[in-house]
Amino acid sequence: MYAQGRTAPGKKITNAKGGQSIHNYGFAVDICLIIEGKTASWDTKKDWDNDKIADWYECVKIFALYGWEWGGNWKTFKDMPHFEKGNFNSWRKLSKLKKDKNGYIILS
Ligand SMILES: [Zn+2]
Repeated sequence: MYAQGRTAPGKKITNAKGGQSIHNYGFAVDICLIIEGKTASWDTKKDWDNDKIADWYECVKIFALYGWEWGGNWKTFKDMPHFEKGNFNSWRKLSKLKKDKNGYIILS
């Protein structure tokens, strides 16, 4: 993905090389809402279920319950779709951990 827009055709889609994002370690996800099983939406204000709370913020609350931080709370660059697991948010630290034979890091 890093090569795209640099040495491979297409638009640049990432600034992170392989292993330089906590997404690579499974501790970050980017979400969108799927409306009625059909349409992807990144609308953070819409309230499709009419409960007076924007559906996006309902997701933020659920992630927070499980210790996931929301990129929408960042001060410098707000990354609205992004969530990451607290305590595992440094790819530099994660990249130094031992890996199993499949390349997955070993946490214990
Ligand atoms: Zn992300």
